[in-house]
Amino acid sequence: MKLLEDRIREDGTVLPGDVLKVDNFLNHQIDPDLMSAIGEEFARLFADAGVTKVLTVESSGIAPALMTGLQLHVPVIFARKHRSLTLTDNLYTATVYSYTKQVNNDISVDKRFISPDDKVLIIDDFLANGQAVQGLMEIAKAANVDIAGVGVVIEKSFQKGHQMVLDAGLHLEALASVASLENNQVTFMSDQQ
Ligand code: 5GP
Repeated sequence: MKLLEDRIREDGTVLPGDVLKVDNFLNHQIDPDLMSAIGEEFARLFADAGVTKVLTVESSGIAPALMTGLQLHVPVIFARKHRSLTLTDNLYTATVYSYTKQVNNDISVDKRFISPDDKVLIIDDFLANGQAVQGLMEIAKAANVDIAGVGVVIEKSFQKGHQMVLDAGLHLEALASVASLENNQVTFMSDQQ
């Protein structure tokens, strides 16, 4: 998505540890016009996938997921994060290691909000090593629902998550695919084609 790649080039910064900082338009301060265009693009890409709900994880996934749900006219569920869960009877849960914060979080979704006749579209802001998406896939599996696909705003295709999602046989769409962050430079897959 050219609009997004241009914005990353303009406003993104590269931090040590292969972290791309985009908090001035994506995951702290949010540009609603860009986010709206992101929702339209995901809705277009997954228009024929039979999506009944959008599933994400708080907090940075909520904005793109909500914009996508708005376009597809389906509910949006965000998994909640907790340090560790004790009472889990009414919850689908998974444990997720946070790439940026380097801590384990349990994530959970109330069982009332997903049922086996649902088909969920998993959306997140970033795909890095794939832990967050894998946690959402585990929740979908526990709920016995089909996954319509996985949409991420930005993927770092040189990290493990990209292949993990493909190996799971899922339709993956990344609106910006970062090939490298070497020398503090953002190189997109589209630059290399
Ligand atoms: P994963 O679970 O795929 O390793 O990482 C995904 C999560 O980590 C995302 O939800 C995102 O919040 C965070 N994350 C991973 N890599 C980056 C990055 O380069 N920049 C930012 N801002 N967040 C990232």
